[in-house]
Amino acid sequence: MLKIESLSKSYDKGKSFALRDVSFQLGEGDVFAIVGESGSGKTTLIRLIAGLETPDTGTIEINEKLVSSIKKNVAAEKRNIGFVFQEYALFPHLKLEENILYGISKLKNKKQRAKEVLELVGLSEMKDRYPHQLSGGQQQRVALARALAPNPSLLILDEPFSNLDAMLRAQLRNEIFRIIKQSGVTAIFVTHDTQDALAVADEILILQNGKLVQKDAAANLYTKPSSVYVASLFGNTIQLSKELQSAFECPLKTDCCHAIRNENIAINDECDYVTNATVLKKTFLGSGTQLLIKLDNGEHLTVVTKHTHIDERITIGFNSKDVLEFKE
Ligand code: ADP
Ligand code: MG
Repeated sequence: MLKIESLSKSYDKGKSFALRDVSFQLGEGDVFAIVGESGSGKTTLIRLIAGLETPDTGTIEINEKLVSSIKKNVAAEKRNIGFVFQEYALFPHLKLEENILYGISKLKNKKQRAKEVLELVGLSEMKDRYPHQLSGGQQQRVALARALAPNPSLLILDEPFSNLDAMLRAQLRNEIFRIIKQSGVTAIFVTHDTQDALAVADEILILQNGKLVQKDAAANLYTKPSSVYVASLFGNTIQLSKELQSAFECPLKTDCCHAIRNENIAINDECDYVTNATVLKKTFLGSGTQLLIKLDNGEHLTVVTKHTHIDERITIGFNSKDVLEFKE
């Protein structure tokens, strides 16, 4: 339903690019996440899709209709895209129901539609409240209801949970995911939090310095990351340098680069490659212990283990099946 080709955007006349030669396609009815560090171009990409910016090169098609090119630019309000922002952007002087009616004033059965979406987000009983009489999570659900009310063909959420604390965040994330799936709308969900992305997205797009570096199903991103960078986004990763390879006596291909995930490191356990080490420092983390380790060949490593009782001398190792390999 969304087709993007060779999309680029520079804010300084080509000196630097916020987005560089990005191409991808999205199917209908799924939830997609765009993940990247701050400044990687996430907001630029979705603003281009929404028609709030114009591209320097490339094209955007929505439902096989060209909406953006160098020559053509369909206005944002004609693209039928719903938007949920980080800050809820509700009108403070309007009650919940009025906030929702505002965006569908031309609809024939607008009252009925407002009722439906308020039900969908579970806030029917609060329709006469003002935004300040709601919690942050409830306000975000109203913002979602408002975006869904006109039946958009695409829903875009830009960092929708950044303003919420951790507990509420996980709860609201699941709730919003349920609502999106129930409404059947295609959704793009922007986040810098990989846990959020893994929890809700069928497919994830990774942006790095304005480039699309991988687009894949969540599980594939974890097991088959395209680079050390992508691997490290989904948990602590240790790059297997030449020195580490020699310490573990695991010679690997020289034209590739390799890494191992922290969770695949075994302490005091049998595995394919093992070496002896001394624990220099232990930090209690609650769910586990962080260890600063000096291998017997002199290399230092930091790993997190579930063990709580660790002697000063340990063995550390990993299995060959868990080694990630990248062509650099
Ligand atoms: P993200 O949403 O991933 O944090 P952005 O798309 O906001 O990234 O920004 C990508 C790059 O473009 C950054 O280097 C940012 O400073 C720059 N940028 C974004 N918006 C503007 C703008 N309106 N004017 C100039 N530079 C911008
Ligand atoms: Mg942003």
